[in-house]
Amino acid sequence: MISLQEATQIIQNHLFLSKPVEVKLMKTLGRVLREEIRADRDLPPYDRVTMDGIAIDYQSFAEGQKTFFMEKTQFAGMLPTHLSSPQYCIEVMTGAVLPVGTDTVIRYEDLEKEEKGEQTYFTLKINEIRQGQNIHKQGSDSKQEDVLVSAGVKISPAEIAVASAVGKSSLWVSQKPLFAIVSNGDELVDIETKPLTHQIRRSNTYMLLSALEQLKMKADSFHLPDKQAIIEQKLSTILAPKSVFDVVLLTGGVSAGKADFIPKVLADLGVEKLFHQVAQRPGKPFWFGKTKANKMVFALPGNPVSTFVCFHKYVVPWLRASLFEPNPLTMPQAILKEDFSFKPNLTYFLQVKTMIDENQKLWAIPIEGGGSGDFANLLECDGFLELPAEKSTFKAGEQYDFIRYR
Ligand code: AMP
Ligand code: MG
Repeated sequence: MISLQEATQIIQNHLFLSKPVEVKLMKTLGRVLREEIRADRDLPPYDRVTMDGIAIDYQSFAEGQKTFFMEKTQFAGMLPTHLSSPQYCIEVMTGAVLPVGTDTVIRYEDLEKEEKGEQTYFTLKINEIRQGQNIHKQGSDSKQEDVLVSAGVKISPAEIAVASAVGKSSLWVSQKPLFAIVSNGDELVDIETKPLTHQIRRSNTYMLLSALEQLKMKADSFHLPDKQAIIEQKLSTILAPKSVFDVVLLTGGVSAGKADFIPKVLADLGVEKLFHQVAQRPGKPFWFGKTKANKMVFALPGNPVSTFVCFHKYVVPWLRASLFEPNPLTMPQAILKEDFSFKPNLTYFLQVKTMIDENQKLWAIPIEGGGSGDFANLLECDGFLELPAEKSTFKAGEQYDFIRYR
């Protein structure tokens, strides 16, 4: 049996190491960028008017001029016009190119408009203006070729905006591993089946499928009975070097029971065991290994809370690191709200409900439930507080790592 820290380290040493793939821009949301996005020209690309109003030559104002004859209008989307005399002004709209010969924009709110026949004049209502005001200068945000988004960033609508502004209709992002979810147990039936007295429905499959869907991962699911030969035959196909799957999540059949065939079958199939059993509760029987073709195998204990803990504690950070997300192991902390004690020399994953106080502190309230089979208790909670193995009493007010699943 190894510690949780050793298990984490071994898993992080065996990543999927996703390759970059080119994907259409609108399919990249939530994925990890694997290239730099650079400005294809200055941003903004021209001196851009930022207010509706008039553009003038500041010098005329400095010399005392307050009223300006409006010679024409410059709309957004028009080529730049020219001011024909420093005494005139050009009416300008937000987003327009600043007209040639002007250097300052005055907004309508600071102007009085006067029509004399066909002619329009604008008079300043204020005494102070600043040369260059209301103009977003060319290249003031970024210069052509500047890096706007670095590799490793998770793509959000803000990155999509930048990518589309610089003309990238596709991006290089991390390839996703394909998951196989394999449940195992003679007592397990599918959702539609009405279970007999001795049967239960295989909820772990759907929990894992949806947890992966939340992470935008694709998965297929399979179910195996407690028959060694059948397990061996099916797993040999799923784990074959040429199979489509990159990673296999097994649930059930890894403990010490007489029908727990998974570790033996994996050994018979030549899957290298990297560890079996972690000093933690729940989830102690967790088995981890890899095939010669580098397909990772997470054999999670079947108890639903154990499966859930192991998925969030180990599979999620493994996936993050595999996709080249930065800081895959960083965890927030939460403060224990009540004293708690746990004697065994195991890391304990305490089910907790969280709350944020008026000082923005995150508190964790223990809601223990009925143990690792009590998956309904997960509904009451938001995550697990990770209580270290070395300690047995945990005092209210102490902070611990927190794994949020809701
Ligand atoms: P095992 O790890 O196979 O000994 O299973 C431990 C417990 O988890 C047993 O009570 C199983 O019935 C239950 N279990 C195993 N797999 C699943 C599953 N896919 N869905 C729900 N419960 C399961
Ligand atoms: Mg079983």
